Amino acid sequence: MKEQVMLTGVRPSGNITLGNYLGAIKNFVTRQSLYKSYIFVADLHAITSPRDPEELRHAIEDCMAMYLACGVDPKQTVMFRQSDVLEHGVLGFIMTFQTHMGELSRMTQFKLKSQSSAKNGIDTGLFVYPPLMAADILLYHTNMVPVGLDQQQHVELTRDLAQRFNNRYGKTFTEPDVYIAPVGNKILNLQNPAEKMNKSDGQNLGTIFLMDDLKLVRRKIMSAVTDSETVVRFDEVAKPGISNLISILSAITGECIPSIENRFAGHGYGDFKRAVADVVCDLLEKIQANYRRFKNSELLDDILNNGAGQARLIASETLNRTKRVLGLR
Ligand code: ATP
Ligand code: MG
Repeated sequence: MKEQVMLTGVRPSGNITLGNYLGAIKNFVTRQSLYKSYIFVADLHAITSPRDPEELRHAIEDCMAMYLACGVDPKQTVMFRQSDVLEHGVLGFIMTFQTHMGELSRMTQFKLKSQSSAKNGIDTGLFVYPPLMAADILLYHTNMVPVGLDQQQHVELTRDLAQRFNNRYGKTFTEPDVYIAPVGNKILNLQNPAEKMNKSDGQNLGTIFLMDDLKLVRRKIMSAVTDSETVVRFDEVAKPGISNLISILSAITGECIPSIENRFAGHGYGDFKRAVADVVCDLLEKIQANYRRFKNSELLDDILNNGAGQARLIASETLNRTKRVLGLR
């Protein structure tokens, strides 16, 4: 019987990117057999800002099919849609009330995302989603959360909230650890390596989507912004563009960074970019073939229904216990 619990999720706020894959999904897939594993489509998190309902429905299905295409195994992992398990909403509400305004104002993602939506008024969802994320994690007594670097702060906040709650009301929640992959934890926008690659604002050549046409993927990599040197060397400060491509190559193949630097010593950026494009296209070709098998498959509904049932069992237990210690039951 596996005792340790692992959980992660992706927002269906657009098509899944290479960043989502390398930062979160791949690390989940390689460990799913070692844990009691949960992966969910974070659809409540996708409505932190208004969305077109039809697009959202498609994005939810795509996200689920993409999990399967990337190697999530429904026999080993509970796969479910967040909004199917109502306990997420209720515990999210409770955790919001356990959180200080200052804690939420300090979140880097809030600061970044509220800047870009500031002209139309900042959505409350952007401010209060970390306590919902805390609920997502705490409902399943999660020990380990594989995420990209941008989400590390939110998992740490979850730990703080769990600790505070446990101190105040007695041991109720498990304090989770974050797992950040040593390489590939923050894939940068290929056109603007000062920013991370995002699925929701990636309409230019800077973002690689897992379902991109492979010729386009090649074009995106070949036109990635680099620097005026010609040396393939890892230096995130002086050479963010090249370092990003080295990270992508290393995260996919497992080859360590010094070995990549040695292998491309004396080669120009053209050769190096071609090698990166070959590796990325190889990976995406396989994922895309899998995706076509799973998309529109009746299997998806069965997996989601089954997953929601299994998730509810644990989630309702945790929520009931939480209500009891709070004096709500
Ligand atoms: P959005 O723009 O909608 O926030 P996103 O690309 O940030 O999209 P999320 O759904 O917020 O995607 O995050 C899903 C997972 O992917 C999280 O674990 C997050 O840390 C990880 N992740 C997101 N972007 C990257 C990236 N560029 N590099 C590595 N990991 C990433
Ligand atoms: Mg994000």
